[in-house]
Amino acid sequence: MATETTTDEPTDELPETYDLLVVGGGVAGLTAATFTARAGIDTLVLNDGESVLNRNAHLENVPGFPAGINPRLFGELLKTQATENGATFQSARVIELTGSLEDGFLATAEADDESRTIHADRVIVASFPNAGFLEAFDLEIRQAGQKQYVETDHGRTGVEGLYVAGRLAEGYHQAVISAGDGAKTAIGLIHDAGIPFYNDWVVPEGYFTDRGREVPPGCEEIDAAEQKARQADSRAAMREYFAEPHEAQQRTHPSLVEDEAGRINW
Ligand SMILES: Cc1cc2nc3c(=O)[nH]c(=O)nc-3n(C[C@H](O)[C@H](O)[C@H](O)COP(=O)(O)OP(=O)(O)OC[C@H]3O[C@@H](n4cnc5c(N)ncnc54)[C@H](O)[C@@H]3O)c2cc1C
Repeated sequence: MATETTTDEPTDELPETYDLLVVGGGVAGLTAATFTARAGIDTLVLNDGESVLNRNAHLENVPGFPAGINPRLFGELLKTQATENGATFQSARVIELTGSLEDGFLATAEADDESRTIHADRVIVASFPNAGFLEAFDLEIRQAGQKQYVETDHGRTGVEGLYVAGRLAEGYHQAVISAGDGAKTAIGLIHDAGIPFYNDWVVPEGYFTDRGREVPPGCEEIDAAEQKARQADSRAAMREYFAEPHEAQQRTHPSLVEDEAGRINW
């Protein structure tokens, strides 16, 4: 059920253009993309490889799943949520990033031995704690062994228009922390972009208007019929997601198996 949306073929002359590029389609990047896409920001997520969460055996501390959830299914749900809210997801590795808020950012991305250039007004980097492809920027970076963490203020770096989220921002190593960090960074970016989209709430009909208030930007009032329809859709979707065991292979640490992605051959 996961969707991989593709865009038109890129031309040689002009880079593809998005309002926002999210580098890394793991927990933080996909959560950020859900929030920015819902605010009407044309969002591209580029992901290379897999979230480290795919190495988990059973995810038991993410809110909302009292019996736990298969972590690879959880990642698929995050991806579907981002794309169903309007984000585009593609598999590609970002190898270079340059630019500024004033001129726009240019990312070089590689996939299947092909390289392409993407233009974005803003960028959220939510990749692994390795800032190698960010070397064009004068960022505050903390080196810890082989890992590099970017210092941030609520996701904002010292470079306007460039944000970081998740492990790269030295968040604690739990999925809910990375998800929250992605959401917080996205909301900061939405504010910085001057988009009036504060709450991102869906409320029952009359919640604001029956008190003589306008529905605030980023909020939606829905009537009982619409509420029932959406809840029926959500029950049907979740039944389908949980009907069968998730088929993606268990991962482990890549050093333990002869497979660079760390796949276990069960
Ligand atoms: C074995 C293990 C078990 C865990 N178990 C739990 C648990 O039970 N509960 C819990 O809360 N947390 C758990 N975690 C921690 C959790 O996985 C992380 O906190 C969370 O995944 C971090 O989210 P993130 O978005 O920062 O990084 P990730 O989810 O790893 O996402 C980063 C993404 O960026 C992509 N990427 C990297 N570089 C590039 C690039 N240059 N271009 C494009 N894409 C790129 C990666 O492929 C990846 O998909 C576990 C971690 C491990 C390793």
